[in-house]
Amino acid sequence: MDNQNKNCNGYEAMFTFLNEEDFNHHLEVCEECAKEHARMQKVSDLIQEAKPYIKEKKKQARILVTAAAFFVAVFATLSVPLCMVGVDVYDNLVAQNTYDVQELGLPVDEYGFLYIE
Ligand SMILES: [Zn+2]
Repeated sequence: MDNQNKNCNGYEAMFTFLNEEDFNHHLEVCEECAKEHARMQKVSDLIQEAKPYIKEKKKQARILVTAAAFFVAVFATLSVPLCMVGVDVYDNLVAQNTYDVQELGLPVDEYGFLYIE
């Protein structure tokens, strides 16, 4: 078989066990692995493109969480006589954040809570 001549154990094995130089050489002689490598490059390019976008989303989510924590801390300090008001505001804040999480396009379940696999 052709693959025997090329000493090919499959793309993953070659990628894992060969050093960069040998791997690149193997890509030149092995059509199967070259194809697979091109496919992997494409996926990796897509991830690179998506990265700043994902980072931006994460940053927004973190700002929201920080803001929520800040408000909760402020209400916690002021809340002895304003206890009931504080709870109302806190509930509104949580509802608002739930909405924002959906707006950010993060995975949410049918109740609008952040869904983590
Ligand atoms: Zn190969």
